[in-house]
Amino acid sequence: MFSRIAIIGAGHIGASITRATAEALPDVQVALYDQSPDVRARAKEIGLGVIVDAPEEAVRDADLVILAVPVGAMGPAAQGIADAMKPGAVLSDVGSVKASVVAAVKPRADAFFVPGHPLAGTEQSGPDAGLAHLFHNRWMIVTPLNDPRPEYQEAVAALSAFWRALGARVEVMDAARHDVVLAVVSHLPHLIAYNIVAMAEDLEAVTESEVVKYSASGFRDFTRIAASDPIMWRDVFLNNREAVLEMLGFFTEGLTELQRAIRLGDGAKLQEIFTRARRVRREVIEAGQDSPAPNWGREN
Ligand code: NAP
Repeated sequence: MFSRIAIIGAGHIGASITRATAEALPDVQVALYDQSPDVRARAKEIGLGVIVDAPEEAVRDADLVILAVPVGAMGPAAQGIADAMKPGAVLSDVGSVKASVVAAVKPRADAFFVPGHPLAGTEQSGPDAGLAHLFHNRWMIVTPLNDPRPEYQEAVAALSAFWRALGARVEVMDAARHDVVLAVVSHLPHLIAYNIVAMAEDLEAVTESEVVKYSASGFRDFTRIAASDPIMWRDVFLNNREAVLEMLGFFTEGLTELQRAIRLGDGAKLQEIFTRARRVRREVIEAGQDSPAPNWGREN
């Protein structure tokens, strides 16, 4: 598959790929670079592997290079390593938006760029958040380019095999479709969580800090999502604008329907919508995408 991998960006996802590779493919060598000297120092301190001080040094001998930086930094990060990459190497990324990354990353003519997005992550960031098991049983969506070279298909197959070795389930998808699907299952839920939590903070004065005190009743689950990295999510919304605005349109229509049902005392309507939504939760658990434990296994 690959014997040397370079990862640009030693944050939550870069560190998780490093740890997962060390566990699943111990013979594969991984070199990591991050633009932040503090992150590089911390990554060394926690024994994350080979941390180098220049991106060129990381990629020089690598047959797979993975960009694990915020979506808005993908273009400059790819540009910074293009000349140093080994001829014929595979370039990939883990960005949460795909069409804009495809437009921003200009690989060298002899490289094979295979974009991807692992649907796995927590609200934490930085090298300490690296988890070896993060990709187990999670989806990795690969969005190949329209590249006619026969070796390109081999690159797609090799990247898919790499992610399967880390425990992920691999699906191939068109970049535009990826961005619409992710707007529904990930981007919009984050926007809603950011909105609810920020709104509650705005209301602190009215509620006299009771929002935080009584947050166990639903609010705290939103605070977990809203604790996600502000830079990463700023870039997601700036780079998946159309799909997010489209889904936001559907969302506000649904919200208006609920508002109307509450105003008119239409219990049947509310019950019908809530019953449909509850069924989706069951389907998510049956698909192995979450734990069946009540309250996510928390004790209280
Ligand atoms: P993170 O923990 O914040 O790590 C990103 C790291 O990249 C930071 O240390 C950052 O340094 C560094 N960086 C930024 N620009 C760089 C550059 N040009 N060259 C080298 N390093 C650079 O973020 P993350 O959660 O790992 O996310 C990384 C990527 O994975 C994003 O594209 C995100 O959309 C995607 N993703 C995230 C999740 C998730 O749940 N977190 C899940 C799937 C995919 P500075 O702090 O100095 O900028």
